[in-house]
Amino acid sequence: MAQPRVLILGAPGAGKGTQSSKIASEFDVEHVTTGDALRANKEMDISEMDTEYDTPREYMDQGELVPDEVVNAIVDEALSQADGFVLDGYPRNPEQAEELEEMTDLDVVLSLDVGEEELVHRLTGRRLDPETGEIYHVEYNPPEDPEVKERLEQREDDTEETVKERLRVYRENTKPVIDHYDEQGVLERVDGEQAPDEVWEDVKATIEDAA
Ligand code: ADP
Ligand code: ADP
Repeated sequence: MAQPRVLILGAPGAGKGTQSSKIASEFDVEHVTTGDALRANKEMDISEMDTEYDTPREYMDQGELVPDEVVNAIVDEALSQADGFVLDGYPRNPEQAEELEEMTDLDVVLSLDVGEEELVHRLTGRRLDPETGEIYHVEYNPPEDPEVKERLEQREDDTEETVKERLRVYRENTKPVIDHYDEQGVLERVDGEQAPDEVWEDVKATIEDAA
């Protein structure tokens, strides 16, 4: 498979962003992530779309899903410009999954499985390098360079309270999507509780096997 079309699923904090970066460079595909796209457009005026709030920010700060119309348009645009891709953060509910089916075929559907207690720990300890976008963790994956350590930032929604709400939204809306792919018999499950390198071994092998 020259340029695989990969869907990576999992709860918030499961390691999708971490593994997607590796997939993108190893398989030379585009990393399409709705979370990053929305964070870059948090103040976008969506009032025309008949939504409850006028910008994505209000939804994101509360840990709620941004309306389907907004994210569907982002993904449709990004996928139309990519041959191969790793799609991360979408679909997050059954309606988005139906949209995705209209947009493209997939070569691999992966799920990173991680228990809830570990998810909370990963999310509240997550830190980002604003200059490179690199993902760190205060305990599991701190940067070696003191200069990088100094400039690390925490996402506004990685607080204990918002994390709880995001996990509730995940259980209610996104888990049924994962179950749906599982029932179709296309889901490849990877144990996401392993160390990052071990997860990567499994992820890489799963994509190669699908070729
Ligand atoms: P995480 O990496 O913790 O899974 P993301 O960066 O993917 O979180 O998403 C952050 C926030 O952006 C979500 O809580 C939600 O508000 C919004 N968001 C991202 N993707 C979607 C989507 N597919 N549908 C609706 N909202 C989304
Ligand atoms: P997601 O995109 O699914 O929300 P991230 O890739 O951002 O998840 O990872 C969430 C946090 O967990 C980050 O701080 C990251 O450094 C850390 N992390 C990712 N994978 C692992 C792993 N296998 N073991 C321990 N920590 C991890």
